[in-house]
Amino acid sequence: STPVAIFCALTKAATNGLLLKGGDYLETLSGIKTVAFDKTGTITRGEFTVTDFCAIEDNIIIETLLYWVSSIESKSSHPMAAALIEYGMLHSIKPIPENVENFQNFPGEGIYGKIDGKDIYIGNRRIGVRAGCERDPVFQVQEERNGYIYCGQALIGVFSLADACRSGALEAIEELKSIGVRSVMLTGDSTQAAKYVESQLNHALDIVHAELLPEEKAVIIENFKKDGLTAMVGDGFNDAPALATADIGISMGLSGSALAIETGNAILMSNDICKIPEAIMLARKTTRKLI
Ligand code: ADP
Ligand code: MG
Repeated sequence: STPVAIFCALTKAATNGLLLKGGDYLETLSGIKTVAFDKTGTITRGEFTVTDFCAIEDNIIIETLLYWVSSIESKSSHPMAAALIEYGMLHSIKPIPENVENFQNFPGEGIYGKIDGKDIYIGNRRIGVRAGCERDPVFQVQEERNGYIYCGQALIGVFSLADACRSGALEAIEELKSIGVRSVMLTGDSTQAAKYVESQLNHALDIVHAELLPEEKAVIIENFKKDGLTAMVGDGFNDAPALATADIGISMGLSGSALAIETGNAILMSNDICKIPEAIMLARKTTRKLI
């Protein structure tokens, strides 16, 4: 293989928007069989809006609930946090982060903070287990949401958030299919949120897994690798284990967390996932020429 040809292809890929951290990844890209995408911030824009927020215990005042949630969320950098804080602001509730003690982040689950002497947990179904509640919140409210709020072990509120797909997401997946690569979506979000995105993408995704912890994403990647070369595309702190496990980890350049960008073997400079099938085609052409 000639170094000049590799250099030219790397430059071309970079000009197209995919920066590879080494020549070997061209060969990996050329043989990719599966591309696994994170959902939030990768397939979707990661800009949530609150579509539903309510207290489910009669004695809880909605303003108090909003104050607790927005104050604790103001310590989190998760894309859902910004949406909840903004929703509070729309209802004239100002977060007071200084009133939150012992803040903790549980990747893939949610967050915890002590405020007004209460232990408040905010997150997906898993956070209830951490709060010590044994009852399934979905059973309790009879409908799946992407957010649950606990005070101690008691479920006190629920909310839903919606996030739109990036323009070009469907095209990217269709393009991958046309070149014989399967597309997978891995998410820590609820099954319901995953289904919504699936339908927005005309059910073009080959496989979808929801409610995953960061390590579970990595285990699934490990399994895909048994079928052939596997790429993982992600933006978050929570994607780092999966990015590291994949044959090639691709991080979102514009919105990616520092850890994702550090861990990835390639950086998608423009956040445009259509550049992935393009880069695979370019890599195939280059490596074919080299043989
Ligand atoms: P994804 O895999 O889609 O990028 P994450 O792993 O970032 O999702 O998060 C998984 C889930 O954990 C979210 O869908 C949400 O339900 C919950 N979660 C994480 N952080 C927070 C937070 N700050 N506030 C509320 N929920 C959170
Ligand atoms: Mg993400």
